[in-house]
Amino acid sequence: MELKIKELPSVEKALNFDLEEYATMLWSTKYGLWKWDILNSKIYFSDRCFEMLGYSENNIYPYISHLIYKDDIKDFSDSLCYHIKNKIDIFHFEVRLVKIDGSYIWSYIEGKILYDKCGKALKMLGSISNITHRKKWKDNLYKIAFYDTLTKLPNLNKLKSDLEKLCRSSNSFSVITLNIDNFRTINNTLGHDIGDKYLEKISMLLQTFCSNNCSVYRHSGDEFVFILKNKDASQVVESFANLVQKTLSNNTFYIKGNELNITTTIGISIFPDHTSVPSELLRFSSSAMYYAKNFAKSTYIIYNDTISLIALKKSKLENNLRVALNNNEFEVYYQPQVNIKNGKLIGMEALLRWIKPDGSTIMPSDFIPIAEDTGLIISLGEFVLKEACSQTKLWHTKYSIPLKISVNISEKQLENKNFVYIVSDILKETKLDPKYLELEITESSAIKDFNNIVALLNKLKDINVKIALDDFGTGYSSLSYLKELPLNTIKIDKSFIDNIECDQKKKAIIKSVIILSHDIDLNIICEGVETEDQLKFLKSINCDEVQGFYFGKPLYAEEFECRFLK
Ligand code: C2E
Ligand code: CA
Ligand code: CA
Repeated sequence: MELKIKELPSVEKALNFDLEEYATMLWSTKYGLWKWDILNSKIYFSDRCFEMLGYSENNIYPYISHLIYKDDIKDFSDSLCYHIKNKIDIFHFEVRLVKIDGSYIWSYIEGKILYDKCGKALKMLGSISNITHRKKWKDNLYKIAFYDTLTKLPNLNKLKSDLEKLCRSSNSFSVITLNIDNFRTINNTLGHDIGDKYLEKISMLLQTFCSNNCSVYRHSGDEFVFILKNKDASQVVESFANLVQKTLSNNTFYIKGNELNITTTIGISIFPDHTSVPSELLRFSSSAMYYAKNFAKSTYIIYNDTISLIALKKSKLENNLRVALNNNEFEVYYQPQVNIKNGKLIGMEALLRWIKPDGSTIMPSDFIPIAEDTGLIISLGEFVLKEACSQTKLWHTKYSIPLKISVNISEKQLENKNFVYIVSDILKETKLDPKYLELEITESSAIKDFNNIVALLNKLKDINVKIALDDFGTGYSSLSYLKELPLNTIKIDKSFIDNIECDQKKKAIIKSVIILSHDIDLNIICEGVETEDQLKFLKSINCDEVQGFYFGKPLYAEEFECRFLK
């Protein structure tokens, strides 16, 4: 309710206040009251104001501007001038007021300016309330909403809001997405505490690149984004990316007795060269980063049309994959595995094919990585497992040959907490004896989360399922950790078999791997055998089993049955 001056006497009358009662009223309110006589440059404060700021009538500054915190003076006086110039009477400000001890409180000042008939400002009157508490609470909420709790860096919300603002201006800038290579391995092998410390240390280092023109944000997990403002963004961004990568890779972090190095992959998009839409700038720099990861890890790549085409192709493929899964367009093919000593069929590897409605076949290398990225591999993997087990059971019943079936398992499937239950349910459902099922895992997926994988493989061993280490020789190939994995078979990669006839070094390596593996009771299978010479050599060094085009390419079930079982 607005109180007009001329109404005051009637209010006084109605409430029947005397002067002392007025004073008591003033004292009882939490607001400080003040009056500024502009003409006579005099300012009056109520006791509550003195109390709030710690001054007394004798030591309070004669000008209100002296009480205002230095950083707020300009805004305050600009706003005041604006009010007076435009003859606006009601005002309210949020400013910091300096207390006698030099600290400040946040205050809400509201009131009215009184003008004479000619529009000259005569005085200002109003109240002050202490809103420090509310401000702090608001600041905290702001921090929670816009800052990452672990690294204290601004988060994705802040990044998006800053990008929106920057895209409204015409100045060019770059968006630099930085991803830490192999962070997951650190998290999984050394634990999340060390992973968190590592991220904190990296964030601190990234902040050293920040200035008025450059800020860094934590986008998510192990992904950070720089915004680099510069007139010639496209020219300076490359040397900036280079410098960041070099500085990081020259650093070693020491965390709880671990010595950790870092390499990063960077993707860059530039405003307005690539787009003026904030969300697209982020998407483009992230696509460029993923492109860099796939083709040349630990480098930087600036977004270009090829990347946009690849990203588009990928998202189309992802969509098509979902449709294909619903339409049962996937088929399991079988490749024979043979006992090297007697040449007899001992089993087969299940290999997935995508058969399009037009009859064309898409090979796994073209869709498995996307199925892994999108998580579709979980459903696909389950489909292969069920199909392969039920087909094997059918052949067991029909031909009474104890064939084993090898099924490829991706890293994502191993991460699934229910994996063991899924496998045992499928075995029960298809009635296949678990000892005929061999799951093929790769070295890289075993090493990523070593302790958990060992535990998981032991559970599979408990239900009698066998485990093979696929693609041996392409990864870490450390026999020392092999001892800890409950493996049954080592599958030597095709790259070791290629040209083995004329490569003495390869011959020596395979020979010693076979000896060592036999020492620890592991079965050896060599894949990619294409020639008789390769077979002869493998036989001569006591390899157990072989698989390759020499015996047969992967075939669909009916064809496999016709060629190898009938
Ligand atoms: P992989 O597990 O190493 O499978 C062996 C690959 O080598 C197969 O390719 C097979 O056709 C090929 N191969 C076998 N013998 C020879 C040979 O003598 N010469 C040549 N040149 N190639 C040979 P494919 O079927 O294209 O599969 C490629 C990869 O896709 C597999 O490599 C595996 O990593 C993945 N994959 C296939 N099916 C599945 C699946 O059901 N689940 C998962 N997670 N991955 C799968
Ligand atoms: Ca395999
Ligand atoms: Ca393989």
